[in-house]
Amino acid sequence: MKYHYFSDIKSLVLSSLFLFIFFIGSSFLSLDNQTKKPLFVVVVDAGHGGNDVGNECSDLKRFKQEKDLVLPVALQLGGYLENLLENVKVIYTRTEDRYVSLEDRAKIANEASADLFISIHANHNPIKSIHGSQVHIHNHDIKFSKIFAQKLLYQLSKRAKRKVLKIQTTADRGHNLFVLQNTKMPAVLVELGFMSNKNEEVYLNSEYGQTILASAIFRAVREYRGVVQ
Ligand SMILES: [Zn+2]
Repeated sequence: MKYHYFSDIKSLVLSSLFLFIFFIGSSFLSLDNQTKKPLFVVVVDAGHGGNDVGNECSDLKRFKQEKDLVLPVALQLGGYLENLLENVKVIYTRTEDRYVSLEDRAKIANEASADLFISIHANHNPIKSIHGSQVHIHNHDIKFSKIFAQKLLYQLSKRAKRKVLKIQTTADRGHNLFVLQNTKMPAVLVELGFMSNKNEEVYLNSEYGQTILASAIFRAVREYRGVVQ
């Protein structure tokens, strides 16, 4: 899916800069161009949508609700995966603002026999000082989910300069997360940051922040694929 639009010269320059950075990053991946890798199917799941707005923002005039925050990150991630990696198929659970049930999200991934499921969310906490990125996994197929979760946290820390919190398993949470419990492949649910934290909400809403977050997830997928294929 095309997700580039050059509304003004500033975004053109910014987009060119990011593309350039990705080119530099990709040039180290010459192997990707030399050997034909088997198909790798990634389900990119933008959390919430439609009537399910997810977490509320602090100010609707300035910021987006969770469902609208995570969608552009999901679309950018999918674009990077399709454009920068060979033989990768991206399946989105939604590409617009519409409601998709949790059952359908898991079903989409299972019917596609996906290799990886990534659910993208943004967090909220009554304690406003709490911030950082968090990755949830289930105990099912935990080995590969955990490998990806670790790579994802590493990139969120290194690439996106986020504070990262400890990986959360079902035991840590004390409850299941439907999409993780019901998907049959390695799966994570990433909370990009806390909308309840002032600085993080600004970052999550910025074009820069969204691009870097998408790029961090992309890099984690690229590394993970190198391990499993
Ligand atoms: Zn959410």
